Amino acid sequence: MPLVTTAEIVGPALRGGLGAGAFNVIQIEHAQAIVAGAEAAGAPVILQISENAVRYHGALAAIGRATVEVAHAARVPVAVHLDHATEPGLVREALGLGFGSVMFDASARDYDANVAATAAVAADCHAAGVWVEAELGEVGGKNGVHSPGARTDPAEAAAYVAATGVDALAVAVGTSHAMVVKEAVVDLELVAALRAAVPVPLVLHGSSGVPEADLTRAVAAGLTKVNIATHLNVAYTRAIRGHLADHPEVVDPRRYVAAGREAVAREVTRLLALVRAVPR
Ligand SMILES: [Zn+2]
Repeated sequence: MPLVTTAEIVGPALRGGLGAGAFNVIQIEHAQAIVAGAEAAGAPVILQISENAVRYHGALAAIGRATVEVAHAARVPVAVHLDHATEPGLVREALGLGFGSVMFDASARDYDANVAATAAVAADCHAAGVWVEAELGEVGGKNGVHSPGARTDPAEAAAYVAATGVDALAVAVGTSHAMVVKEAVVDLELVAALRAAVPVPLVLHGSSGVPEADLTRAVAAGLTKVNIATHLNVAYTRAIRGHLADHPEVVDPRRYVAAGREAVAREVTRLLALVRAVPR
């Protein structure tokens, strides 16, 4: 199954009332693990690389090319997405690498500046056939300073989508980034109001902080793309820490990193079932 565009994954998910899982890649092993987990689930998946991960690697090209190659070799449809880009230059680089979508994050700017910058990026991306996600109503936690109290207003969201031409919208509905405890409360009434008001798929960021049964409910209420990063980091690090504790003699990174990779794959399979389930 080839690399596909994000639209080819999110569009059918929206029409079918299912969630589309989007998981963050930090190292090549994450890309391999997420694809293995999606293959086990028999589900399409989105691999996403954040601007923070690009900063860690020093550049997008190496990890971006590796991730696109992993997607090409997959047995399920896989798209590659640039997550939380604040620099238009990084967006252009992703287009050149074959990414199927980008999230341009101007959420820290005031409304008019956000609209102007996002509309310009969306026009560039659409000329290249690439899908654009943007954010309105800053989802907290990226800098450790925001509370999960931010909310996206449905009428403002509809106007923003019309003014920018974006293909998907990240909304603030009670979650916050980088949560390692599952205490976030998704405002399901607001999700339903946004779904009714906004013509494009809605994206949940900060999904790692959501109790697992609520992920299924959030999709049923109207969220489509579900972004998960921190939850996988917890699983990856726990597995490696356990392997190292059990094998104090180990020196070959392939031994312990493989333990982390297997743990991430298992979690991706489980999480994809949750976001693709009908709620009970
Ligand atoms: Zn995010």
